[in-house]
Amino acid sequence: MDRGFLFGDGIYEVFPVYGNRIIGLDSHLNRLQDGLDAINIKNPHSKDEWIELINKVISLNTKNKNQAIYLQISRGCDENRKHTYGELKPTIYIQSSAIESREKDSLKSGKSAITREDIRWLKSYTKATSLLANTLYAQEAKENNAEETILYRDGIITEASSSNVLIVKDMCIFTHPKGSNILPGITRDKAIECAKVNDINVIESSFTKEQLMDADEVWITSSTREILPITSIDGIQISSGYAGPIWSLVYDQYQSLKF
Ligand code: PMP
Repeated sequence: MDRGFLFGDGIYEVFPVYGNRIIGLDSHLNRLQDGLDAINIKNPHSKDEWIELINKVISLNTKNKNQAIYLQISRGCDENRKHTYGELKPTIYIQSSAIESREKDSLKSGKSAITREDIRWLKSYTKATSLLANTLYAQEAKENNAEETILYRDGIITEASSSNVLIVKDMCIFTHPKGSNILPGITRDKAIECAKVNDINVIESSFTKEQLMDADEVWITSSTREILPITSIDGIQISSGYAGPIWSLVYDQYQSLKF
């Protein structure tokens, strides 16, 4: 009778961990709180309690130095299945799995993506466990031997099935502004910070599918995939077909957050 199972009624977070360092710990915990607030679940723990629990799970995974900590809070179990809910005790699930590290050299030829219309709901800023649309998009990418499905709504690129999308044009980075259509990715924020450290201009404004195809560089960002160059979209080569120089700078800067 857990509503996470019955309705996908819950919120989750993924924390990337390198050694004992959790990248963006506070930002992830803040986004967790925002997600719980958005769907009216009372946070069962304080920040300090979460940090203690997360560190405990990290220490239990003795096999992997680099881990993704998946944390899910569902609304809890009811007595029977009904759409509405009362006061319930949230169910907590935490797991650790390995993050595969990808060598920079192996990323230089980039990854491919496909595009699809974004038909998701207008609360895409919540990291809700009900991810049916996202999983179907991811499966389509897999079946097309692609890394990701990039989404567009009314011709505007929003994000991808499980990552944010950034483009570079004339030495400037563009990415969809935060709001109802995208998950406010922590890696997106980190990539922006890393770009600014290197004096690269970043504009958080939307861009079209045409601008995506005509970009000098296209990247996707996520906690487990970090910053990945996309060099082919819908079978069409992007720019030179190789990861670009701005990606290289921002990628290196991001790596420095791990130590
Ligand atoms: N957008 C979506 C839809 C996602 O599911 C994710 C994360 N899996 C992201 C963006 C990237 O978020 P983050 O950088 O915080 O992992």
